[in-house]
Amino acid sequence: MAIRIDGKAISAEIRAELKEKTEAFAAARGYRPGLAVIIVGEDPASQVYVRNKKRACEEVGFYSRGYELPASTSQKELLALIDTLNADPAIHGILVQLPLPKHLDESEVLLRIDPKKDVDAFHPYNVGKIMIGDYRFLPCTPAGVMALLERTGIEIAGKKCVVVGRSNIVGKPMAMLLLHANGTVTVCHSRTKELSSVTREADILVVAIGRADFITADMVKPGAVVIDVGMNRRADGKLTGDVDFASVEPIASAITPVPGGVGPMTITMLLQNTLTAASV
Ligand code: NDP
Repeated sequence: MAIRIDGKAISAEIRAELKEKTEAFAAARGYRPGLAVIIVGEDPASQVYVRNKKRACEEVGFYSRGYELPASTSQKELLALIDTLNADPAIHGILVQLPLPKHLDESEVLLRIDPKKDVDAFHPYNVGKIMIGDYRFLPCTPAGVMALLERTGIEIAGKKCVVVGRSNIVGKPMAMLLLHANGTVTVCHSRTKELSSVTREADILVVAIGRADFITADMVKPGAVVIDVGMNRRADGKLTGDVDFASVEPIASAITPVPGGVGPMTITMLLQNTLTAASV
């Protein structure tokens, strides 16, 4: 039976460390790391994420500010707010909750955030820095996966790593971080032929596709480490991952559950990025 990688416990451990570092930071500098979170419109899932981010900031002793803008906000108004926050010395990290309403140009908005305050690491400048391995911020979800592997004592160097999914926010940066950690990395996507023959090669399998229970035991090498990034809602409202946990757990050596695996790490990494941004 696999070790269950407990994202809740590891996240709590990192947050406790961040709280300590924040107190030391505040004592030395006389101010606290500050995060501004902007949400446009009333998407209920986004509202929950934003609330959780604000609560997490309070937990570790950050200063946080929330901007809840109406869905009718214009591009000009949103860019003006970002300009104001870019110039605000009390704010070290700026996060624009995605997705934005359709009439807004997401790329232009992300480009406007000062790369030094881009704690989501979505600005092309930071994306480029990740590519060359000289980065200040890592995108939160892949960074969370790396922290889980590291704190579980899982060696990456020399391992065959397979990432299923190639999105800009998870799959691609995930592959890059595993490569920087000296894994031998293969990236799969919807056009990959004979997917299961590729996934069966993996010593470390990271799945981020958004399809409930898609990876079954026959697609996994016995003894593999399986990281499930997926978050899917079942018809009964329950959260489930991209990996069929019940069939894969008995053959994996370590596995993340959903919920309680990668999920709790994402906001923790956002906090870490905000402290990093404030520390320069
Ligand atoms: P995207 O929809 O942006 O990307 C999905 C990727 O999966 C694409 O690259 C797609 O391939 C690939 N894919 C889809 N179907 C298949 C298939 N049948 N076989 C192989 N590859 C496939 O999703 P995200 O990366 O944003 O998110 C992925 C999952 O992770 C979601 O469940 C999301 O909710 C979750 N997530 C969880 C987070 C957390 O904090 N735990 C944070 C972010 C996301 P192609 O490029 O060819 O279309």
